[in-house]
Amino acid sequence: MRTQTMRSVSILLSAIIFLGPAATTFAWGDDGHQTVGKIASLRIKPRTAQRIAQILKPGETLANVASWADTVKDRMGKTDPDADTNAFLQDVPHNEKNREWHYDDLPLGCKNYQTCTGFTPDNDIVHMLNVAIRTLQGQPDPNHPLSQRNALKLVVHFLGDIHQPLHVGCGFIDRDANGNFFIVTDPVAIKQKTLPSDRGGNQLIIDNERRNLHSFWDFDLVTSLMLTTDKQTSDTLGTFLRETVRPDSSWNPRGPVDTWAAQWATDSLGQSREQSYSSVKVTGQRTIIVQTRDGKPVLRDGKPVTDVVYDITRAANYETLNREVVRRQLAKGGYRLARLLDAIFARS
Ligand SMILES: [Zn+2]
Repeated sequence: MRTQTMRSVSILLSAIIFLGPAATTFAWGDDGHQTVGKIASLRIKPRTAQRIAQILKPGETLANVASWADTVKDRMGKTDPDADTNAFLQDVPHNEKNREWHYDDLPLGCKNYQTCTGFTPDNDIVHMLNVAIRTLQGQPDPNHPLSQRNALKLVVHFLGDIHQPLHVGCGFIDRDANGNFFIVTDPVAIKQKTLPSDRGGNQLIIDNERRNLHSFWDFDLVTSLMLTTDKQTSDTLGTFLRETVRPDSSWNPRGPVDTWAAQWATDSLGQSREQSYSSVKVTGQRTIIVQTRDGKPVLRDGKPVTDVVYDITRAANYETLNREVVRRQLAKGGYRLARLLDAIFARS
C-alpha cells in the first residue's frame, strides 16, 4: 500500500478527494491478509503447526499476525512493548526501507520475474521473501537480521501481497502524438524513455475521483467477495474458500524452495496483465497536492508537494470479473503459504 490522501488542484476550492485509504492502512487490506493466513492454518501439517506454535506467542495465529508487516511501516525508530517488534523498529539501518519490501513494479510486458532486468531491486518482495524464508531455515541474512518470529510474520504477509496482482504488475504511462495517454508494457521502451510508473495502480483514479485502482484491489474487491459470499469475517471467508475452491495443479510450486517466490511473482504478473489491467484505459492526467491524513498539504521547502495522477476507465463488468480473480488469488495464496511452511518446518 503506497497511497497518500491527496487533494485535487482542479477542485481545490470545492471538494476534497480521497485516493483510497490513508497511508497507514494496509495492503491487500487486513481482511485479505488474514484470509490467506486462515486458509494456510487449515492446510498445514500438524508438525508445521507445532513448530509455528513454538515461534509465535500464545494467542498468535497465522491469521492475526498477517498484517504485522504493515503495522511497522510508519513506526521505524519508535519503541514497542513487544520485544521482537521493538528490535525491528530499533534496527533502523537494516529496516528503514521496509516499505519497499512489499512489492515489485514490473512492466506488464516482462515474460517473467527472472528476465525482468532492471525492475527487480535487491529489497523487492521476492528478495525479502527469500531472506525471511532462509532465516526460518536457520540461515539468517547479515544484511537483514530478523528474529524467527518477525521472519515468520513477514513470510505470512508477503504471501498475501505477492498474490495481489498490483503488488507485482505495474503500468507505465506515455502519450502519443495526439496527446492521448496509453499504458506501455515493453520494459525496453520504458527504460529508454524513463516513463513514469503508476505505482501498481496507486496513481490510477477510478470512480469519479473516490479511489485508486490499487486500493480497489486491496479493499473493494475483497469486501465485494465477502458480501457476495455472505461471509462477514476473514475467518469465515478463509474457511469457506478452503472448502469451496479446489486447488489447481498449477498452484503447486516446482523446484527448490528458493525459486518459489520468483515463480509466484511471475504468476501474479500474468494476472495483472490479463485481468487487472486488461480493460484499463488512461483518459487524462491531473496534478494534485499531496495531503497528510488530517487534510493538510504536505510541504517540502515550504512548498506544497504535488503528484501526478491519471484518470482511467474500465470495463463495465470489471468488478464482477475480478472478484473471481480475488477469490482464486486468496485461495491460492493460502494454499501456497501452507506448502511453503510445510517445506520449511515439516521436511521429513
Ligand atoms: Zn504489504
